[in-house]
Amino acid sequence: MQGICLLGATGSIGQSTLDVIAKHPDKFVLISASANESVEKMADICRRFKPQRVVMGSQKACDELALKCKDLVISIEWGEEALDSIASDSAVDQVMAAIMGFAGLKPTLAGIRAGKRILLANKESLVTAGKLFMDEVARHDVMLLPIDSEHNAIFQSLPQDKKGAHKQDVSKVILTASGGPFRTWGLKDMSQVTPEQACKHPNWSMGQKISIDSASLMNKGLELIEACWLFGITPDDVEVVVHPESIVHSMVSYLDGSVIAQMGNPDMKIPIAYGMSWPNRIETNVSSLDLVNIARLNFEVPDLERFPNLKLAADAWFMGGTAMAVLNAANEIAVDAFLNRQIGFLDIARVNEKVLSTANITAVNALDDVFEADGYSRRLAMNMISRGVFA
Ligand code: NAD
Ligand code: MG
Repeated sequence: MQGICLLGATGSIGQSTLDVIAKHPDKFVLISASANESVEKMADICRRFKPQRVVMGSQKACDELALKCKDLVISIEWGEEALDSIASDSAVDQVMAAIMGFAGLKPTLAGIRAGKRILLANKESLVTAGKLFMDEVARHDVMLLPIDSEHNAIFQSLPQDKKGAHKQDVSKVILTASGGPFRTWGLKDMSQVTPEQACKHPNWSMGQKISIDSASLMNKGLELIEACWLFGITPDDVEVVVHPESIVHSMVSYLDGSVIAQMGNPDMKIPIAYGMSWPNRIETNVSSLDLVNIARLNFEVPDLERFPNLKLAADAWFMGGTAMAVLNAANEIAVDAFLNRQIGFLDIARVNEKVLSTANITAVNALDDVFEADGYSRRLAMNMISRGVFA
């Protein structure tokens, strides 16, 4: 029986993880769960799964949840220290890192330092802390399973040792991208899109922030950096290919000309179940792939002019140091401003570009450097947005 700590339980990945746990009660038990503010959803989770410990994002959410769950025996806490504590609890074997954004970094690191298997959905934590994150994984000899569907596909398509690419055999990694809802749109129309349109992903049902990132291709940019850290490669080793059907989740190309791909219907329960059960496989409720019905798989080159975020991410990788934390923070602020209708859709990439080119990029020697860069970049982005000086 594997004890699960589910960080970000009320989100989209959280829900899919709960579905996998519910399907395999003989294999997994929810030990603890966290959410920011969603009291109602968390109360439902508490009733269904009866975790021992729950952590909310504020005292208010904590008190409200305690009131709703007063008939249950659950320890309900709030705040950052409590989050770290559930991720490192001795009853936990696996930590599902599914908090949205940079906020997920600290508890994910707590899980790593406690030697838990890390199921990494929260790409922003690896993108921002990069080498420090991977060093901690190595130091604590932790099994890091990528949950992002593309990285999970690459992991499944890599050679046997499954810990990383054998660079002498691999010629490149082919990272697929759906292209998002505006794949075929012109710039003029893209400048007018609403948050509702941007959140409507053609193939995946996801949280708001990653949906916007998918529409702006920043998600692919973050995933490019994520792949570099995970598999010890650089953006020069990665080819991003737009694949609108989201059936081929990514591929690994080998020196002999072989290409190994992982395919499946677009449902996050597949990579989640794989991560939780690795090195075995378990059933999910996902319908099997009907290739005859799909009939055609299309592939195209990404348009960096309409989607400059992808190039910005590669630039940030080559700049190194705090550049990736700076870009990520600017993007979190810009996406928030777009969702609040303060800026237009195309302004997201403009803010990101302006912050990345203005910010002072320094080396990352300690985690504090990452937190400092994150805070600095957020202030810079907010300032630019409030003054309208990013175009
Ligand atoms: P979501 O918005 O649906 O859920 C986010 C969860 O994190 C919620 O439980 C929320 O309460 C919690 N949360 C948000 N802000 C928080 C904060 N400041 N402190 C503590 N908790 C906070 O997001 P999601 O779509 O489930 O994505 C979660 C992560 O997984 C993201 O990093 C995303 O990039 C990654 N991911 C998601 C998908 C997907 O299909 N949804 C696929 C690949 C990777
Ligand atoms: Mg992905």
